[in-house]
Amino acid sequence: MNILIKNGRLVSADTIDNKEILITDEKIKAVKDSFSAADLPSDLKVIDAGGKYVMPGLIDAHTHYNLVSRGTVTADKFYEGSVLAAYGGVTTVIDFADHLPSKELAAGTLQRNSEATGEMAIDWAQHQVIIRVDGDVYKELEDLKELGVTAVKIFTTYKSAGYFIEKEPVKKIFEACKKLGMMVTIHAEDDDIIEENSKKVEESPYPPELIPVIRNSEAEYKAVKDYGKIAGSLDMPIYIVHLSSSRGLDAVKELKSEGVDVVVETTPHYLTITNDLLKKEGAQKYLMTPPLREASDNEALWGGVVSGDISIIATDHCTFTLEQKFQSNDCRTIFPGVPGTEEMLQIVYTDGVEKGLFNITKLVSLLSSEPAKAFGLYPEKGSLDPGTDADILIFNPDSETILRNDNIHSAAGYTAYDGMQVKGKAETVILRGDIILEGGEFLGKRGAGKFLKAGLPGACKMQ
Ligand SMILES: [Zn+2]
Repeated sequence: MNILIKNGRLVSADTIDNKEILITDEKIKAVKDSFSAADLPSDLKVIDAGGKYVMPGLIDAHTHYNLVSRGTVTADKFYEGSVLAAYGGVTTVIDFADHLPSKELAAGTLQRNSEATGEMAIDWAQHQVIIRVDGDVYKELEDLKELGVTAVKIFTTYKSAGYFIEKEPVKKIFEACKKLGMMVTIHAEDDDIIEENSKKVEESPYPPELIPVIRNSEAEYKAVKDYGKIAGSLDMPIYIVHLSSSRGLDAVKELKSEGVDVVVETTPHYLTITNDLLKKEGAQKYLMTPPLREASDNEALWGGVVSGDISIIATDHCTFTLEQKFQSNDCRTIFPGVPGTEEMLQIVYTDGVEKGLFNITKLVSLLSSEPAKAFGLYPEKGSLDPGTDADILIFNPDSETILRNDNIHSAAGYTAYDGMQVKGKAETVILRGDIILEGGEFLGKRGAGKFLKAGLPGACKMQ
């Protein structure tokens, strides 16, 4: 289909312009002040975006759709996840592939892609989790890169679950990634501190309100510092997923002042809600790792977003139904995670742009351009450049909604932001030239999404 979007305000990561966009097939054909009739194909749908912002489709750089873990599977499978993403203006997600038992790394990516193919209604890229080094890690990473997966994730915690990797193999992973120009991303919580804290707790089971005490922000501080130093010593970048605390941000700032290239992501939940929710009835709904912190942490993280120390907001969308969540009241065994992809845009717009912390260009940077650059998807994704994929979000800033358990689309059946008044909404969403959301109705197709082969992450260089 050919589409002309007119009368809108085009927003990139650094400009706002009154321009028109012409889309033909899957691509942005041209961007002009105005098109003359002679420029336009005859078969054309015209979208009047008057009073709206027109921006590149959003990217949620951290999702877990269809995650099989601890003997269960998350509520939002690939299709459900991609549909709710479209409602939130998101046209690309980056999900995680498990490191399969006794298999090479690439096997995880291949398996995950075969499961997602035919299901995803939006595009996706993949990160690969590494939980052990047993063979030629350089060769395994090279194979992964060949497949278009250029970022890996390692854990600094979960020793007892077998996810933790010791110092020596970690160094091998960093060194191999440096040579290949790949990004190491880390889940930063120091396992020894968490173990020590656990020993001090005498209650059993561990109630949800104890998780911020056990997995405290000092654990985040130490892990960010330790792994950041490894990256610094090798003169390579590092990416911190879901930074949760003011102390974690202190570690980031200290590393940056020492010259380490740290790319940092936080999530809407660490920015807006607090561990007060873990002290109340239904606390399980708000349990994730790292845990929710204090209001002062919310504030510090917004400060980090404004200063640029945090350059990406993504969600760690990982959902369980209330039935799954309430199977346990012990913070060690409650299924961790909350929904987020759908709510991300409205929360960042309301608490970031509407409250005057930054303008709409910064929102595009945080939710689209920077994640695309960080993970080798730019400018095909994350820009409105002619010739690139026509992934477009038309955003109505005037809409007002209250987020409610019964008006979001996650199969979890609840939102962590129930009752929150938000401004703005995704009005029209276009994926590679196809309208997948219009007038509050999902129009996309199961299986229409495609796997994106990522290039080199922006901060990385081939060595
Ligand atoms: Zn995650």
